[in-house]
Amino acid sequence: SIVSALIILRELHRQLSQSNNSSTKLTSLPPRSRGVESLIGNTPLIEIKSLSKLTGCKIYAKLELANPAGSAKDRVALAIIRANEKLGHLRPHSGDVIFEGTSGSTGISFAVLANALGYDAHICLPDDTSPEKLQLLKSLGATIHPVKPASIVDPQQYTNAARCGSQQINEDPNDRRRAIFADQFENDFNWRIHYETTGPEIWRQMEQDVDVFINGSGTGGTIAGVSKYLHEQNREIKIILADPQGSGLANRVNYGVMYDTVEKEGTRRRHQVDTLVEGIGLNRLTWNFKQAEAHITEAIRVSDNQALRMAKFLCINDGLFWGSSAAINCVAAVKTALKNGPGQKIVVIACDSGARHLSKFWKSAAEVPNDITLDEVLQ
Ligand code: PMP
Repeated sequence: SIVSALIILRELHRQLSQSNNSSTKLTSLPPRSRGVESLIGNTPLIEIKSLSKLTGCKIYAKLELANPAGSAKDRVALAIIRANEKLGHLRPHSGDVIFEGTSGSTGISFAVLANALGYDAHICLPDDTSPEKLQLLKSLGATIHPVKPASIVDPQQYTNAARCGSQQINEDPNDRRRAIFADQFENDFNWRIHYETTGPEIWRQMEQDVDVFINGSGTGGTIAGVSKYLHEQNREIKIILADPQGSGLANRVNYGVMYDTVEKEGTRRRHQVDTLVEGIGLNRLTWNFKQAEAHITEAIRVSDNQALRMAKFLCINDGLFWGSSAAINCVAAVKTALKNGPGQKIVVIACDSGARHLSKFWKSAAEVPNDITLDEVLQ
């Protein structure tokens, strides 16, 4: 019987060591794939253990940073390219040209996919874009057109610069290339790809059990597509917009006014979104955000300081090194958890990695002490 006890112990040890080492589980291996484009989507969903434990809710993040070019924008870039190929506006491996106006992630996705599918990426972006994003675009071989950040009606503004660039090529009789302006802010294929892929993936990964979905809005494509899909499954799901300081979208959602600043004399004005957070927050309405409006339950404002502290908190407590928009979403998730009470299942998007934000957001976040508590994060 000592022998049988030993055998049982050995079997227990074998099972334990197998369950501890998930990389040995063949079932968790993704299938073989061909081409970088085939790796887009089907991203993991991870529970943020520290936040779940401290709030009594279950808080999960959809890891969009696991896409091959590092963000949720891979889905959008591929959808826009494929749609334009179907329309005959782009011919694969032809050197046709994709123009986009973007402060980062989308440009990086287009640059990678242009290389993979045989196009040229031309990226127009504000000249205060973080150096690591610029360096990345240059390394990827994209042509960069820096534009002064300015009002949206100014033709120098970066989306207009991208539109003009594509028109010039298409109108030049001596230029045989075709060019498109991807126009992620106004393009229907943006929210639709999140409706077709990101939303259903979340629903399946959560086993049809979601109470709250939280995301910020850059173009609004992600929150629009995911919330439309989730509401078709269950209209009770709360959709929360997490909005950075300086953005007008939270006021639009909560009070019906777009303007962020009320000046002394009572006249309202629009202004540049002034935040360390990149990729979300706007002071104008986009087609993609309009698709989300009917679904959004509430907007939660998050300050830069809260976002910086949350980013450091997740890094130190969970090993999650994320970008600024993911941190904003997590602050809104904790506020929601504390307001709604324990037991809720909350899903946020982690759009990109901290490595994209080293020189701006993480330069300040790195200064937050390692022993920051969740209470201090929210102050
Ligand atoms: N986070 C980051 C880092 C982004 O670059 C973006 C897109 N600009 C978003 C969030 C927001 O995504 P969407 O454009 O779908 O609203």
